Amino acid sequence: LPEEYRKGRELLETVLSHTGNSTRIAVSGVPGVGKSTFIESFGLHLISKGHQVAVLAIDPSSSLSGGSILGDKTRMHELSRHPQAYIRPSPTSGFLGGVARKTRETMLVCEAAGFDTIFVETVGVGQSEIEAASMVDLFVLLLLPNAGDELQGIKKGVLELADLIVINKSDGVQESQAITTQSEYRKAMQLLSSSKNSWEPQILRCSALEKQGMDTIWEAVKNFRKSLKNSGEWEQQRRSQYEKWMWTLVEEGLLKNFRKNEIIQKKIPELEKFVASGEILPASAARKLLEMWQSYKK
Ligand code: GDP
Repeated sequence: LPEEYRKGRELLETVLSHTGNSTRIAVSGVPGVGKSTFIESFGLHLISKGHQVAVLAIDPSSSLSGGSILGDKTRMHELSRHPQAYIRPSPTSGFLGGVARKTRETMLVCEAAGFDTIFVETVGVGQSEIEAASMVDLFVLLLLPNAGDELQGIKKGVLELADLIVINKSDGVQESQAITTQSEYRKAMQLLSSSKNSWEPQILRCSALEKQGMDTIWEAVKNFRKSLKNSGEWEQQRRSQYEKWMWTLVEEGLLKNFRKNEIIQKKIPELEKFVASGEILPASAARKLLEMWQSYKK
């Protein structure tokens, strides 16, 4: 509703000067890798050090199934009941872009409310990782101790987004495998280009279940922050994220207006049919629509 959008925008503008003071961390990995266990353990660890933690999720599948897998409170039992934590399930309506936008906006509200560490949880399949990477400072990819990329379904593109790779479940009988996997990834990552100038991705291990390795990971996060702040890359990354966000919204708005236009709307079914049957080139149909839009605008 336009009225609600307006109110929402006003609220965001009011709190804007109180935002930006958090560390924004994406946590990604295939289902079962231990994302919720990790966020629970790591989140509680940070709270014990005096931090306030918010957990948001980008889950495109929830818009299809209508139910949310990620960010579900029952998955982070202890953390969700903690007064210093806030957990918001992925919004269940809308397309990925809409879910991502709401997550961005919620992040700002959380920051204004004093949360200094924001987790954005995604499921490791590709597009939602790119959305998450476009709104966080640091990207954590969780991996299983006993499998190569192919088995883990991790795409090279997702690996390249990672600033920290953490082999989870490094406990019990799986620990030695985790150590092997760690050294394999250390070698493999040297072949990939890093997404940051002032940081080389690190490969760590932890056991989210046994709450081991949390301090090492937090140290790495702090080192990451220090390096990027010193080089200026921290601020620069945020500026370019905001810029991209603006253009995404401009594009969305334009497209919405375009599709709403009556003259265009009338023409669309016919052109779609001709394009589908191969009678008109997609490029020609697009040009026709854009020309109609141009002359309407005049
Ligand atoms: P998600 O789907 O990525 O959120 O994964 P979950 O956090 O739900 O964990 C999936 C399963 O792995 C659960 O049964 C967890 O108890 C288990 N798990 C998570 N972390 C660890 C760990 O560090 N060690 C072991 N052994 N099991 C873990």
